[in-house]
Amino acid sequence: MGDSAESPVGDPPGAEPARLTALLRRAEQLLDEHYPAAGIEVAKGAVELARLLGDGPRIAYALALLGGHYRLAGDAGCAVPLLVESAELAGKHAVTTVRASCNTDLGYLALVSGELTEAWAYLDRALWICRQLGDALGEARVLDYLALTMYEEGEQAQAEDLLDQAHRIRQEHGDPRWVAVSLNNKGYLSSLLAERAGVEPRRVQEYRLRAVQLHTDALEHATQAGHWELCSLVAANLAAAQVVSGVKEPTPALFARRLAAARRSGDRPEESLALFNLGHAYFVGGDRARAEEQWSAAVELADALGRITLLRDLHRGIARSFEEAGEAERALEHYKRFHELERTLAAEAAAQRARLAVVRLEAEYARRETERYRQLNAELTEANRRLKEQALLMDRVSRQDELTGLGNRRYLAARLPLLYERAVHTGEPIAVLVADVDLFKIINDRYSHAVGDEVLRSVAQLLSAATRPGDLVVRYGGEEFVLVLPNTDPQAALTAAERLRALVEDHDWEIIYPNLQATISLGVCADTGIGSGQRMIDVADRRMYDAKRAGRNRVC
Ligand code: GH3
Ligand code: MG
Ligand code: MG
Repeated sequence: MGDSAESPVGDPPGAEPARLTALLRRAEQLLDEHYPAAGIEVAKGAVELARLLGDGPRIAYALALLGGHYRLAGDAGCAVPLLVESAELAGKHAVTTVRASCNTDLGYLALVSGELTEAWAYLDRALWICRQLGDALGEARVLDYLALTMYEEGEQAQAEDLLDQAHRIRQEHGDPRWVAVSLNNKGYLSSLLAERAGVEPRRVQEYRLRAVQLHTDALEHATQAGHWELCSLVAANLAAAQVVSGVKEPTPALFARRLAAARRSGDRPEESLALFNLGHAYFVGGDRARAEEQWSAAVELADALGRITLLRDLHRGIARSFEEAGEAERALEHYKRFHELERTLAAEAAAQRARLAVVRLEAEYARRETERYRQLNAELTEANRRLKEQALLMDRVSRQDELTGLGNRRYLAARLPLLYERAVHTGEPIAVLVADVDLFKIINDRYSHAVGDEVLRSVAQLLSAATRPGDLVVRYGGEEFVLVLPNTDPQAALTAAERLRALVEDHDWEIIYPNLQATISLGVCADTGIGSGQRMIDVADRRMYDAKRAGRNRVC
């Protein structure tokens, strides 16, 4: 996204040696104008001087500016530690505006390097702080990045919605510069959506034309604001949208100018994007050799910057161009790279789905809050409580077996490796038991499925009541249970299994239904030397089947 570098406003407090103030103002201005190359030097001077003066709040601010410039230059490696340090210092000295902007920048950097979970955490915090401060422009910037995170999550409707919210905030604020930023971002998202795999052809052109329209509007506002750097960025985006939608002839000169501007200012992600667009213009104009030269430079740069999402978009764009030119093989090559990157991002996303769902609820809640502005405190507390409740519920549902209330297989998969590792590490014994209800199908057939369910609940209760607090009892599948018993040697494991078996056999099953009887067969494994907890389950499962073969209602 042609991202906006909004400087944290407000004078840092304290007695101000004029030189530091001047440096900070200059660094702020350069950030505002997108000149990281010059800004880095100035901000470095400000950091040095602020440290010399021991002025905590202004050290924090100078670090944030320096980090912001590195972010703009696409140098996440330098930006992140500075921003983290700044956020910490800002927290200590209660410079809340700086804390907000650091969290926003950190969220953005995490987002573009494909670390979506981290991005969520930072942006969530930034959003909260901006709202506390009533910092509308800061909030809009966070919403932009949250929108992109949503896009990466495959939630396009939510992404569009968040950009609309940011747009409304900026319209209300009234400065054409920020309206231009919003329109530009909306146009950029439209372009991304047009290229998203699986979009039907008719929609592709719709998105592309919408991108053209939005960038046209953005350019008008940027011109009105008189912000040259923003005009140049929007113009390049507009031209790119026009070229892909076939609205206008390719104009390499325009992209070359944009490239030169990006190089001059030191905005390296923008340089990569300009190289890509330049390549595209050459490609459409029939100059293959130059097109490929620009494209590989664009890819190389995005790769070096670690910008996973940009890199992914570049490969997709290049693949599309080859595809439209009928060059299947070259297209395939880039689609492959695109899909690899997409998978990397998807894996990150999937691993954290549970957490994301909770954060999404929070984002949704926050959205409604913006519209209603200040609400009664009590209502707020109540909503928070419900949110926590929902989060807890979701957490529980994902780990708990509904019928018996025991942990489920997923829960076992999460816990067992830790218990096993701990046992191996401390040298303490550990045992795994697999228990299976005997001839359960007959119980179902003879007494009904409802009675079968009741039997499962009772077995679950008997097993958990008979085990120790540190033991793990889970429903592994239909009528099969797994028990993990830490600190239990082979002999004790057999004794425990036998005790459980007898307990089930001796239970008064007629409480549930006249003449009902239920028993279980158990397999035991207490050999920690076989490599993993899962292997212990496999062995115990085989032994359980030995018990079945030997006549059921026994332990092997
Ligand atoms: P064995 O002694 O060899 O284990 O015989 P079995 O009948 O217990 O084993 P089988 O695997 O043939 O049958 C298991 C049955 O458990 C089949 C399935 O319908 C039933 N079952 C699985 N889950 C549930 C459940 O949640 N509730 C009820 N009532 N029945 C279930
Ligand atoms: Mg069975
Ligand atoms: Mg079974």
